[in-house]
Amino acid sequence: MTDYLSSALWTEDEIKFRKEVRDFCLKEIEPIADEIDKGPYPRELLRKIGQAGYMGVHHEKSVGGTQRGLSYEIIVAEEISAVNAGLDMARMASATLYGMPVSKFGTTEQKKKYLTPIIKGEKIGCIGITEPDVGSDTAGMKTRAEKDGDEWILNGEKRFITNGSPADYMCTFAITDPNVKAKDGMSAFIVDTKTDGFSVVQDHDLLGMKSARVSWLKLEDVRVPPGMVLGQPGQGFHILMDELDSERTAIAGEAIGYGRTPYEVAVKYANERHQFGRPIRAFEGVSFKIADMAMKLEAGRALTLTAARMYDRGENITKEASIAKLYTTEAAIQIANDALQILGGMGYTTDYPVERFFRDARLMTIGGGTAEILRFLIQREVFKEFKTLNRL
Ligand SMILES: Cc1cc2nc3c(=O)[nH]c(=O)nc-3n(C[C@H](O)[C@H](O)[C@H](O)COP(=O)(O)OP(=O)(O)OC[C@H]3O[C@@H](n4cnc5c(N)ncnc54)[C@H](O)[C@@H]3O)c2cc1C
Repeated sequence: MTDYLSSALWTEDEIKFRKEVRDFCLKEIEPIADEIDKGPYPRELLRKIGQAGYMGVHHEKSVGGTQRGLSYEIIVAEEISAVNAGLDMARMASATLYGMPVSKFGTTEQKKKYLTPIIKGEKIGCIGITEPDVGSDTAGMKTRAEKDGDEWILNGEKRFITNGSPADYMCTFAITDPNVKAKDGMSAFIVDTKTDGFSVVQDHDLLGMKSARVSWLKLEDVRVPPGMVLGQPGQGFHILMDELDSERTAIAGEAIGYGRTPYEVAVKYANERHQFGRPIRAFEGVSFKIADMAMKLEAGRALTLTAARMYDRGENITKEASIAKLYTTEAAIQIANDALQILGGMGYTTDYPVERFFRDARLMTIGGGTAEILRFLIQREVFKEFKTLNRL
């Protein structure tokens, strides 16, 4: 089972857990992996994932999770993504992107009502940050929330929201005090998508991740009761930044998954395909690509596990999560590209899943913080560290 997994990195329990998740994926997802790439994943599948416990490995037991930590979430992310990346993007949008802010900043009542059904896979969550005019510069957010008595009235648009159209609940962000910087004037809300004024403008037509739904949403005078503010008013930017660290680590786990499958297919193909009277793996042009893929997967796993372990210990992981996400997502694109090259013309057909992973992988140097923004964050943390250590 550990095959190409360096067992030194993982605990025995994590290895056992990985095998269990892998068996689940082979039974429940693999048989329909190509089919669900043609349309949205069936809601029933998310329920099965919830029932198996894979929506809540990093959530507290009191809300229905198993409280095992982010190191287990990256295992789930890798294993499901290795079979169908879009499905895991949808699972993670619900369990982690929506789930973590509610878990960390929600009241007991909010968690019971708006998190437990998500962990069971009975309800779907999404996170609404990005807007038509606001991507990387989240502090420039245009969505506004104004107080009317006890309630808040939300107006704005959110674009590229994974699970947007099927979601039951959205964790979203809006400016509540335009007179101060967004750092202090942004608030986080849980919005029930059945509320009047919430609408879906359209589902985006994407290059990859086709089993997920990614939507453009509109909020027109959406009334949110006081009990659905997450954390304190004005704490939104802090909640947003906190969410991104766990999100980026979990995405790094996914990236290893959608790098791994093209790698496995390429290794097998390079062994079986003969040209010039020998297997193509006999040519360095092919075999050195395989060496690079193996190296990138191993390095990516180590970086991702480092960030996850630190998060589970309560440490700040802005630098580590950014490094893990940046490295693994760039690696996954390179691996999928090299795998496609090794398969030659066959790689360009849908007879092999490599083209699907090639399309899926391309997203991830964009979503959840672009490669450019992550490089900015990493260097900023490096200079901070050097300054703190009096080395500058
Ligand atoms: C399939 C998909 C799913 C998504 N899911 C979600 C979701 O669930 N929830 C959500 O809120 N968002 C989601 N997003 C949005 C995603 O997080 C944004 O696309 C991403 O943050 C980048 O924003 P943007 O697309 O507006 O690009 P922009 O911010 O407009 O950037 C365009 C280009 O300019 C570069 N750039 C911008 N600023 C700088 C800078 N300071 N220095 C250097 N380069 C810079 C960027 O790196 C990029 O290359 C999703 C996006 C996609 C495509």
